Amino acid sequence: MTECIFCQIVEGSAPCHRVQEDELTLAFMDIFPLAPGHVLVIPKEHAENLFEIEEVSLLAVTRMTQRVAHALRAELEPDGIMMMQLNGAAAGQTVFHHHAHLIPRDEGSALAFHPRVRGGDAELTSLAHRIGKSLG
Ligand code: AMP
Ligand code: ZN
Repeated sequence: MTECIFCQIVEGSAPCHRVQEDELTLAFMDIFPLAPGHVLVIPKEHAENLFEIEEVSLLAVTRMTQRVAHALRAELEPDGIMMMQLNGAAAGQTVFHHHAHLIPRDEGSALAFHPRVRGGDAELTSLAHRIGKSLG
């Protein structure tokens, strides 16, 4: 079995709070959310980061990221949404399977990286459902 946790999620051998998927991408809730509604969008095909990902997968991730951003804005009405994507350990990357973060932001809320507080399953499931429903 692959050691990559995000490949395990794609294969279904590890759980996730799925938001949406298509042929090339999967969107799911980050289990250590920086804010409520923190979603990750990944390519289904393994690629370490921006330097490795095939163009067709990158374009699909970008398309899905925009769709999820629209759904997040419609459903959660944050003041803004931060999109973040880290490349290499020195840049703070901790999971070496390409992913785009979508992080709802509100005026005045503090910005933190890699919080240690795990999100509650019920809240993550509910948010995944709301955002997924908004995507149609
Ligand atoms: P990065 O630092 O950009 O590599 O981000 C990795 C992100 O993946 C972090 O925000 C983690 O909270 C998140 N993460 C790690 N494992 C899982 C998992 N099994 N399910 C959902 N999110 C995860
Ligand atoms: Zn992988």
